Amino acid sequence: MDIAVAGAGYVGLVTAACLAEKGHRVACVDVDIEKVMLLQRGMSPIYEPGLEELVRKNRERLRFTTDYAAAYRRADVIIIAVGTPEERDGSVNLRYVWEAAKQIARTVEKDCVVAVKSTVPVGTGDELARWIAEYRKHPVHIEVVANPEFLSQGTAVNDTLYASRIVLGVESPHAEKVMREVYDPFALPYVVTDRKSAEMIKYASNVFLALKISYINDIANLCEIVDADIEAVAEGMGMDPRIGPRFLRAGIGYGGSCFPKDTKALCHLASRCGYELKTVRAAIDVNEKQKLKLIEKARTYIGDFHGREAAVLGLTFKPGTDDIREAPALANIAVLLEEGANVKVWDPVGMDNVKRIFAENLTYCATIEEAIANADLCFIFTEWPEIRQFDLCQYAALMKTPLVFDGRNCYDLESARKAGILYESIGRKQVG
Ligand code: NAD
Repeated sequence: MDIAVAGAGYVGLVTAACLAEKGHRVACVDVDIEKVMLLQRGMSPIYEPGLEELVRKNRERLRFTTDYAAAYRRADVIIIAVGTPEERDGSVNLRYVWEAAKQIARTVEKDCVVAVKSTVPVGTGDELARWIAEYRKHPVHIEVVANPEFLSQGTAVNDTLYASRIVLGVESPHAEKVMREVYDPFALPYVVTDRKSAEMIKYASNVFLALKISYINDIANLCEIVDADIEAVAEGMGMDPRIGPRFLRAGIGYGGSCFPKDTKALCHLASRCGYELKTVRAAIDVNEKQKLKLIEKARTYIGDFHGREAAVLGLTFKPGTDDIREAPALANIAVLLEEGANVKVWDPVGMDNVKRIFAENLTYCATIEEAIANADLCFIFTEWPEIRQFDLCQYAALMKTPLVFDGRNCYDLESARKAGILYESIGRKQVG
C-alpha cells in the first residue's frame, strides 16, 4: 500500500519505519526541515534503539519529506502521528492535528483512510470526520479511523513490530478492511470497535498504568513509615496474576510525554462532562509529591543546598530514550539551582536536550566519575544500566561525603552498606 505518515517524532518515525519493514511504501512527512534532512541522510533525529538501522535498511520503501501535498495526494492511508501537547488547564492542544487535517483535506485526490494515531480526546475522530468531509478540496471519500498507539519509548521498534494489539476504531466495514490491509503483515491481534471507544481505550490504558505507578509509590511511602520493604511487597503482589509484576517499581514517579498529560487530559474531559475522576486525580497528586521526595530526604541530612556540590545521574524520564519531557530530574534540578547548589550532571544520551533548558547553569560531565568527584551529595533519577552497574565503592572514594539519594532503587541495600555509602532510596529501609 501507499501510506503517508504525518509527523516524524517518536511515534510517527517508528511507525513509518515498521510499516516499510513490512513491505508498504511509506512517505513520512514532517514540518521540521532539519529533522527531514537528517532522515534523508539516514540519520535518526531521536535516540531509539534499533530505529536508525531500520530506517537505513528500508530506505528503498521509506522516504522523508516536507512536501505534504505530494505525500498525501495519492496515498491509500494517511496516518496522523503529530504531537498533542498539554494546555495549562490540562486540556489537549489539538493545533497540530487540525493543521495536519487541513493539509490532508486540501490535497487528497483519491479515496483514502485517515488513521489518527496521535492521542486525542474522545470525540475528536468524529469532529475530524465531519470537518474533512466539509472542507475537502476534491470530491473524494475520506474515512477517519481511530488507531491509537501503545508503544513505549526505549523499546518502540519492538513494541510496534510485536504489539500486544492493534486497536481500530472504525465507523464502516470499508475502513476496517483498509486498516486490516495495513496491519495484516504484522500478524497481531486486533481490537475492532467504534471510534470513540478506541480513543477511550488509549486513555484508559495509559492512565491505568499511571495509577499503578502512583499506587505502588503511595505504598512505598507507607512502607518507609511502618518499616516494611517495598521490593518484597511488590514481588509478593506481582506474583498474583490478577495484579502482575509490571509497573510495580517504586520510585520518584512517572514522567515523559504521555502519562502526565494523558492523566490530566482524562480528568479534564471528565470534568467537562460534569464527572470527577477521583482515582486519577489522586494518582496525579501522588506523582507530583513523589517527584521531589528525594529533595525532602536530602534536606534532613544537609539542611539547605546553598553552596553544595550536587551530582545528578540520569536526566531522561526513563532509560533507553533521550526524551526529557516531564522528566522528574528537571524539577529536582530546578530546586537545587534555585536554592544555590552547584549541579554537575551525567546522562548517556539526554544531555543535549537538557542543555537547551538549563544551558550553562549546569556542568555537563562525560563520565559518572567526573560528576560525583568532590560532590557533597548525589541524586539518581534514571536507572540507566551504566548507573546500575557502577562500582559503589567509587561513591565513597570520589565524593566529599558519600550521600547517595537513589530515586530508582538501583542498588542492593547490603552492597551499599558494604561500600560505605549513606544510601537513601524509595520505600526501603535506610542502611547507613
Ligand atoms: P513528537 O513531538 O516526538 O513528534 C511529533 C512530530 O510531528 C514532530 O516532529 C513535529 O514536527 C511533527 N508535526 C507537527 N505538525 C505537523 C504537520 N502538520 N505535519 C507533519 N508533521 C508535523 O511526538 P510523539 O512523542 O511522537 O507523539 C505523537 C503522538 O503520539 C502524541 O499524541 C502522543 O501523545 C502519542 N503517543 C506518544 C507515545 C510516546 O511514547 N511518545 C506513545 C503513544 C502515543
